Amino acid sequence: MGIVARLARRTAARFIPGMSATIRCSACQREKDSSIQMIAGPRVYLCSDCFRRAARQLTPRRPTSDAIRCRFCGSLRVPLDITHVESVAVCSDCLGLMDQMLEAVANSPREAR
Ligand SMILES: [Zn+2]
Ligand SMILES: [Zn+2]
Repeated sequence: MGIVARLARRTAARFIPGMSATIRCSACQREKDSSIQMIAGPRVYLCSDCFRRAARQLTPRRPTSDAIRCRFCGSLRVPLDITHVESVAVCSDCLGLMDQMLEAVANSPREAR
């Protein structure tokens, strides 16, 4: 390949969106490839490995006898991480998500009736 073609390719890689955009895990800095799945968040990526690692940290390895299952995400959580609304158990993570969702709804422009 000639120098011009190489330069042209490099330039294209810099300016065409998608060609140069490397998706990188924000936790372990690994680049996305065919063997890794990336979970996209707001300006943050987490690879499937780091996600599993995070999930493992949250879920007790050996659920204690007093562990409670969140009705929304289905994970077993220690009682400190769970709150109850009537008979519905909700974990702190799900509560956080709901909070964000409700906020997004509240902040979205109201539609004319
Ligand atoms: Zn990672
Ligand atoms: Zn949950």
